[in-house]
Amino acid sequence: MLSENSIKRLIMAHILDERQMQVSVAGKDARTIDCNKASLAGSVSQRACVFCGSRVVLYPIADALHLIHGPIGCAAYTWDIRGSLSSGPELHRLSFSTDLQERDVIFGGETKLYQAALELINAHKPNAAFIYSTCIVGVIGDDVERACRMLEEATGIPVIAVQAPGFQGSKKDGYKVACESIFKLVGRIDKPIPAKSINILGDFNLAGELWILLEYYKKMGVHVNATITGDGRVEAISNAHNAALNVVQCSGSMNYLAKLMKDKYNIPSMRVSYFGIEDMSDALYDVARFFKDDDMMAKAREIVRNEISRMMPALAWYKERLTGKKAAIYVGGAFKAISLVKALRLIGVQSVIVGSQTGTPEDYELIKQLCDEGTIIVDDSNPVELSHFVKEKQADIFIGGVKERPIAHKIGLGFCDHNHERKEPLAGYEGMINFAKEIYATAMSPVWRFTRPLTPKGE
Ligand code: SF4
Repeated sequence: MLSENSIKRLIMAHILDERQMQVSVAGKDARTIDCNKASLAGSVSQRACVFCGSRVVLYPIADALHLIHGPIGCAAYTWDIRGSLSSGPELHRLSFSTDLQERDVIFGGETKLYQAALELINAHKPNAAFIYSTCIVGVIGDDVERACRMLEEATGIPVIAVQAPGFQGSKKDGYKVACESIFKLVGRIDKPIPAKSINILGDFNLAGELWILLEYYKKMGVHVNATITGDGRVEAISNAHNAALNVVQCSGSMNYLAKLMKDKYNIPSMRVSYFGIEDMSDALYDVARFFKDDDMMAKAREIVRNEISRMMPALAWYKERLTGKKAAIYVGGAFKAISLVKALRLIGVQSVIVGSQTGTPEDYELIKQLCDEGTIIVDDSNPVELSHFVKEKQADIFIGGVKERPIAHKIGLGFCDHNHERKEPLAGYEGMINFAKEIYATAMSPVWRFTRPLTPKGE
């Protein structure tokens, strides 16, 4: 356990004054984290830009055209960065840009946008098109909405302007823009669907995770209507208002869409997580409870019983070997961080740092109660802070996303990708086994013997 002085030294030494209230240490005197606010200028937040936030959410709509209106650099953010899989069309894997040049910046890029979009729609025959405005378009003021209206008239498909200049805020603001864009599709068609239907919001089908979840719900007798936006389809999203329930996995990105759908179509929503045994099981039970269906509940119990008895021997094996290891967690949404703490505990790994880019006060309160005394809890952190925390707490493995990987590797620490790029499914019961396997392979690798020792600064 850290002493009072040690905690104070930790907080004071490496954190900018204005950020001090965004860090806390779990324990009886843990302070309330000041979160849900704009990043401090100059602190080099791990958060990405507005365009990035909108893009990661909308990209997995696989039968839509995604055209970036801006300089070519913004289009570097491609499918490869979030490898969302599709069971059908793969138009989302292509990255299109209007490649704005100096001349367009001076004279305007609307004509170029219209011509490029028309050519692409004619060539690829998408079911909808999303036109993303990036920073420079926000500066020069192209009327993208007007161009979209003209394109919609000319082509007959929904053409949606995604107003996402990067400088307007952070990735979280981009989520909101994406939700508004998806909402423009919802309600465009009316097709009858079974009464016990749900939409899954915020599972992006990384490494095919969504397909694992669909199997569970199918066994329970639940019809999944729209998957927003993993393996997403324009038609299912357009009919999403006919589902009985929205099940929200990535609440940071999708709560706003659930709210919009509740306000307009009176569809209730529930927050779930598909990571770890406990949260995965709750995600099935909660849906059965919502439909007040005993048979559905019995089937959910059977799935949980079978899966747990199948996986427990393997998890016990990992737990025996991993007990005593320490993990640092820094992810986008705090709800995922909560699931990770529970999943790591199941295999004997203690979480010593838990942070997120977009956590709410309620999320951090839950994390404080869940974590062991002395765990550092941090909101909207940066590489300097994270590197210091990891050294201070002598973590054995770092779990994060694409931007945390270099931090871990520079320190000489094992890294587990729990975000966009991963190639192994980590959701569901099967995912829990993959997660344990990955943590074991990484934390126990002999390579770490050859990296420099982790020495806390000043010791
Ligand atoms: S910050 Fe602006 S220029 Fe950079 S990727 Fe985002 S939208 Fe493009």
